[in-house]
Amino acid sequence: MARTVPLNQVRNMGIMAHIDAGKTTCSERILFYCGKNYKIGEVHEGAATMDYMVQEQERGITITSAATSVTWRDHQISLIDTPGHVDFTAEVERSLRVLDGAIALFCAVGGVQPQTEQVWRQSEKYEVPKLCMVNKMDRVGADFFSVIEEIRSELGGNPVLMVYPIGQGEEFKGLVDLLNMKALTFDEASRGVKIIESEIPADLLDECKKYHIEMMEKAAEQDEALMEKYLGGELLSIDEIKKGLRIGTMARKLVPAYCGTAFKNKGVQPLLDGIVDYLPSPQDVGTIHSADNPDVCREPKDDAPFSGLAFKILSDKHMGKITFIRVYSGTLRIGDPILNSTLDQEARIGRLFRMHANRQEALEEAYAGDIVAVVGLTKTRTGDTICCRDNPIMLESIEFPAPVISISIRPSSRNDNEKLGMSLHSLAMEDPTFLVRYDQETGETIISGMGELHLEIIVDRLRREFGVECEVGKPEVAYRETIRHKAEGEYKHVKQSGGRGQYAHVCLRLEPQEPGHGFAFVNEVKGGVIPNEYLPAVEKGVIKAMESGPCGGFPVVDVKCTVYYGSYHEVDSNEFAFIECARQCFKNLFLKGNPQLLEPIMSVEVAVPEDYMGSATGSICGRRGRVEGMDDKAGTKLVRGYVPLGEMFGYSNSIRTMTQGRGTFTMVFEHYEGVPYELSEQIIEKRKKEGKVR
Ligand code: GDP
Repeated sequence: MARTVPLNQVRNMGIMAHIDAGKTTCSERILFYCGKNYKIGEVHEGAATMDYMVQEQERGITITSAATSVTWRDHQISLIDTPGHVDFTAEVERSLRVLDGAIALFCAVGGVQPQTEQVWRQSEKYEVPKLCMVNKMDRVGADFFSVIEEIRSELGGNPVLMVYPIGQGEEFKGLVDLLNMKALTFDEASRGVKIIESEIPADLLDECKKYHIEMMEKAAEQDEALMEKYLGGELLSIDEIKKGLRIGTMARKLVPAYCGTAFKNKGVQPLLDGIVDYLPSPQDVGTIHSADNPDVCREPKDDAPFSGLAFKILSDKHMGKITFIRVYSGTLRIGDPILNSTLDQEARIGRLFRMHANRQEALEEAYAGDIVAVVGLTKTRTGDTICCRDNPIMLESIEFPAPVISISIRPSSRNDNEKLGMSLHSLAMEDPTFLVRYDQETGETIISGMGELHLEIIVDRLRREFGVECEVGKPEVAYRETIRHKAEGEYKHVKQSGGRGQYAHVCLRLEPQEPGHGFAFVNEVKGGVIPNEYLPAVEKGVIKAMESGPCGGFPVVDVKCTVYYGSYHEVDSNEFAFIECARQCFKNLFLKGNPQLLEPIMSVEVAVPEDYMGSATGSICGRRGRVEGMDDKAGTKLVRGYVPLGEMFGYSNSIRTMTQGRGTFTMVFEHYEGVPYELSEQIIEKRKKEGKVR
């Protein structure tokens, strides 16, 4: 066996877009033109193949990032689906981590929307080269050039026009290919498969020439030899322009820009050409480094030691747990023993697949640069590194934001208790931003996620995929607890109740850490006053105390805990005694450290017609929020601000009522901030009444 597609002809890419920009339709057309999926499924009919799960089709939004492989001009393109809804930013992050290039898709009427802005920023963080596609050119009000301007001014991108629209909105007829300087129209009867080339319409010729020259200049700027030639008065050949643009795209100095209408089958093939011509192959992306040791690295070669990253987990009724892996180096074979270096556990590759839109292709081997699905890795989680046993490496994991919202959940029928537990466990394995916690004191199961919709979908999946009907409580903010001052002191755990006694004694120092720095445990014990064997128990006790904070029973964050002194008893000391002792000591000290509740602050953007500006601003201020700025966009007013999540429940209803259905909003988690004193007293009081504070 050997690879069939050379590495430089592999493209791993995804489409990033604001919800409703047409990502699903566009992906669908890509599959169609690549010949793998002959029936075009319309999104509104719920037949789109990329939408992996049933309820996604019903809701018309794409939640999961399944990966589909297609072929275009002898290139293997793996299309990694990225979701469009803000509640799924973690899904976007994880896809960005493993793809080499992306298409930023815009609606020709809506232009740059808040979410595109956010995803664009994320893609810059991961240094992902991009193409732009302005979709929905057939819609009334479509304006390619104003979207291009927004890409420049709002996203800081440097778009290079690759096509020029022939007409816009209802008049949109086709494109001028500005590279080859030809007009293209898309035959309707063949659903755009047949492309008719013709001369550029006379009235557009001057404009198109101008853009062709601009493209040539931008290409020349990317390479010295090309620049020299161009400055010497010579024109660049088409291949030379392509070469320059490829260099510029990969260095993220420019973004080739396309337009069309996926829905009406116009303009998708030039975009596919763009993927092949300008987006990088795994070879271009090059060597990948170990997270903990910069000297350890892997080249994207089939004969290098195997390394890969698990970026997506799905459970399938028939196949069981499917792990999507991006192979960075080496060759992966069925039956190979491999190492999950994140968990330090060995496993064996059961079955190996390449996913196509409507079928799974069983593989014997996968090669550097491939995106494949593996069955048999039962313990592997999203973000884990999988590698060759004899040559381990640890790749940088994927960072996920912490959940900000929680609800209690219980099965409608008591008999389903166990089934609920197992189903939640398997959902949590798939989704690292979804947490499940069993509160022993109250006997409640609490699930937490990134937003109301996120949890709604989970509950929906429980019913549909696992057959568990559930009842849920009201959504609650996932508050946190921390301290503002240093506190230190001792605690002795002594019990003498008949038989063998219990003895432990610890001295701890708690200090606040910078926000986001999490928990640190430091051992400064000298001379074995607490024997080494009990130190893990001390840490365990502290961690246990932090799970349910002393103020309101919320998780404790950003605290450094140092154990610096203590004592033990030859007979009465044991692990349990030290766990209990450290837990109690932490709790007491925490309350002395000027504790504070933290709440998630959301970045909110409200879009309303001008008449409702005042109400929109008022709705932010009235929710303990602060307005950060206002904008005017295509006749709509945008109000941007920060609002605590706790004040945002039910906001969609209230904005609808306030604006007679004409206002919309988006919100994204921004950071945690201290809760005002009076409010935190109320929250704590309520939690105490509910028996949630120990
Ligand atoms: P997604 O949310 O980004 O995946 O967007 P979809 O592909 O689901 O599209 C959202 C809606 O826009 C659907 O009703 C599509 O039929 C429609 N749509 C998609 N592409 C176009 C287009 O090029 N023109 C027009 N007029 N509608 C489109």
